[in-house]
Amino acid sequence: MKPEHTPTHVKAPHGAKDTEITWGDGVRCVYPNTLLRGYCPCAHCQGHGGTIAFVPGGNSELRDLEPVGHYALKLVWGDGHETGIYTFEYLRSLADKPEVRTVRPGAT
Ligand SMILES: [Zn+2]
Repeated sequence: MKPEHTPTHVKAPHGAKDTEITWGDGVRCVYPNTLLRGYCPCAHCQGHGGTIAFVPGGNSELRDLEPVGHYALKLVWGDGHETGIYTFEYLRSLADKPEVRTVRPGAT
């Protein structure tokens, strides 16, 4: 597993509007929960095939976050939706979205 695809710290306090992940290469990403919900990668949200698209309108209260093996996180939302398995590689790729605040090591 590459350092940039290995979270060293995940911060998702209850009631917060963002989830913060620090990666093995020192980059810290702050993801709005609305973005994570909209980009839920499950087949129910995204349909089958095609590219991942933002799906608006889902409940974006993050209720729980569970590790899946050593490669992904399962996000459980306030409406009980929990079929989204977010691989670390996928989460890191979402850092390219303009809504995600990314802090690189050494940046002031
Ligand atoms: Zn979904």
